[in-house]
Amino acid sequence: MSAQQSLKTSGAPSLEELKAVGQLASEKDMEGRGCLCIECIEEIPCNPCQTACPQGAITVGFPITNLPVIDRAKCTVCGLCIPACPGLAITIKSVKDDTARVRFPWEYLPFPAIGDTVRMVDRQGRELCDGTISSITNPVRNNRTAVITAEFPRKFVQDAISIARRS
Ligand code: SF4
Ligand code: SF4
Repeated sequence: MSAQQSLKTSGAPSLEELKAVGQLASEKDMEGRGCLCIECIEEIPCNPCQTACPQGAITVGFPITNLPVIDRAKCTVCGLCIPACPGLAITIKSVKDDTARVRFPWEYLPFPAIGDTVRMVDRQGRELCDGTISSITNPVRNNRTAVITAEFPRKFVQDAISIARRS
């Protein structure tokens, strides 16, 4: 499915492409407090993720076209880097028992509400399964990029990254 789509053919990275650059988090990484997932495999001049992190847990360095690298030992999964990324390429995922959670950036109206049933989507925007909204944060400092958390069945954790837009 999504694993066979590439950045070139779909505009979004495949699981294989993420793995090749060390950006595919494992389900073990996602246990407990969860883990930061950066899916940024194009060598573009960009580093707001690095400057947004108060822990120094993300390094782009020099040249600025380097891919971002996470130091998981430093990351507190605070989520401050999620709204800072102009590419909407950062999420936080966690798993517990049969449930997965993803915290993702959201810039569309209308917003969902906490408790809403939504459709989870993969990197290509294809619907995967139902999910439930469990939190929404949209402070002024986010500059209009909200951060939403949705819960959904764990078997979709590697593919689900966001929710379908609502009309
Ligand atoms: S989640 Fe917080 S601590 Fe982790 S990399 Fe992002 S800003 Fe830094
Ligand atoms: S801010 Fe986003 S797009 Fe820019 S380097 Fe970081 S992860 Fe990639």
